[in-house]
Amino acid sequence: MLKLGGSVVTHKGARSFPLNPNEMWNNATSFINIKAIKKISSEIKECLPDLGYLIIVHGAGVFGHFPVSRFLKSDANHQVLVGWPLTLYSVGLENLILQNHMLGEGIPVVSVPPRSLFTVTVRDADRPWVGVDASFDCTIVRRLLKHYIPVLFGDLVFDQKGDPAVLSGDTILYLCARELKDVNLVVAGTDVQGIFTDDPKQNPNAHLIKKVTLSGQGEISLKEGSYRDVDGGMSRKLKELTSIAKLGIPSMVIDASKEGNISKALRGEQVGTLIVP
Ligand code: ADP
Repeated sequence: MLKLGGSVVTHKGARSFPLNPNEMWNNATSFINIKAIKKISSEIKECLPDLGYLIIVHGAGVFGHFPVSRFLKSDANHQVLVGWPLTLYSVGLENLILQNHMLGEGIPVVSVPPRSLFTVTVRDADRPWVGVDASFDCTIVRRLLKHYIPVLFGDLVFDQKGDPAVLSGDTILYLCARELKDVNLVVAGTDVQGIFTDDPKQNPNAHLIKKVTLSGQGEISLKEGSYRDVDGGMSRKLKELTSIAKLGIPSMVIDASKEGNISKALRGEQVGTLIVP
């Protein structure tokens, strides 16, 4: 499975983002890191013949971060009737643009919106708008794997009562690994070289951690960067990848924009930080 972080596929440093459907439609491509997507798509294409199967999960990046932060502040009625439908539309637009580039590269992707596959069962105690566990009906994803590359993404997913929660791409990775059972490697592409002792963007003395093992995990004190995502940034990523390691599946956190990294990692060569059972 390959995760493409929102920090890679979108311009995460954007200061503003349109919050009405027409402006979103007209401006969406300017928030996508087209250069990175082209490079990543061509590396995925090159690796395909060597892979048993591949599932791609991408982060929502600015397409989720802006609407969620904005609509969490609005009154309940506006949130439910305007905010959440627009957020679903926004992350769907991002997904459509990524499909455009991947299909253009000849990668047979089929998008499956997580909102139609998952049901949120547990919410974060401190941030109840974030889902931390969900049931997953993987029938369709399994079916697609025969010929296609399913693409999932960070999305708003509903609970049994019909109320939405943010389900991050990292949590979706874990839920897919848990339910599909035959996943053999998870590659998480982000905008830094891997997991560091501290946020490398804030602390020049932070150094790359090459390997995280379940037994040694306690040695790592992972401080969160000052810029925190609605879905929790690097610490949540490490938590999900640790849960994936507990299933017996190795993972890597890599810099997805660096030339050659995706193809090396998908072929099992160590790049960045390796997280092993
Ligand atoms: P993505 O959107 O790619 O999934 P996030 O933006 O959620 O990833 O997390 C990646 C960011 O986490 C990096 O850009 C980095 O600035 C920040 N970060 C915070 N702490 C760390 C750390 N200890 N090691 C690496 N990155 C960290």
